[in-house]
Amino acid sequence: MPAIDQLVSGFKVFKARYYEHRPELYQNLRTEGQSPEVMVVACSDSRVDPAILLGSEPGELFVIRNVANLIPPYQPDGKLHGTSAALEFGIRDLKVKHLIVLGHSGCGGIQALRRCCTGDPLREREFIGPWVSLGMRACEIVPSDPDGSKTEQAAIEISLENIATFPWVADGIAKGTLTVHGWWFDLQKGALWGYDAKTKAFAKMV
Ligand SMILES: [Zn+2]
Repeated sequence: MPAIDQLVSGFKVFKARYYEHRPELYQNLRTEGQSPEVMVVACSDSRVDPAILLGSEPGELFVIRNVANLIPPYQPDGKLHGTSAALEFGIRDLKVKHLIVLGHSGCGGIQALRRCCTGDPLREREFIGPWVSLGMRACEIVPSDPDGSKTEQAAIEISLENIATFPWVADGIAKGTLTVHGWWFDLQKGALWGYDAKTKAFAKMV
């Protein structure tokens, strides 16, 4: 089936599930609005859709996706900060209780980041190099990394540090109303790893 037709038929399945068999879910989401407790910052990679990976229902996850699931530092300079705008809405308006930075193995964005670290500015592209360079410090933490997994995990740690530079995030963490998590999905093995702030290391969760 052509890709677009497959999507239209996928929507029919979704419609039957949520508008015919279980109409109350969307009725509530429509009348009450959304109130997700969890925000996920995930990679744009087609293999790592958080709602599919985490078995979530509509209304449960507020999702930001970008190249390499990076969070920039707090920079209120009036420029175009899409990720920071979504963070602001999720944390200040929706008041999510958890924020998960979800990285993954085999990340092309992190491979691009490693190229930037070796002095390749990715001139053949206009936006990817400057974006992934947000995580360049990961290459100092992990000088050599043939399969990229340690850099992917270090970049998650950097994003967790960056998120804490947003004053309303730091405030939520200090008050205990917001908890941040770093997760890494190993798509080769089908495993989920979590960052432990005490040991400063990732440990296998599932
Ligand atoms: Zn990725």
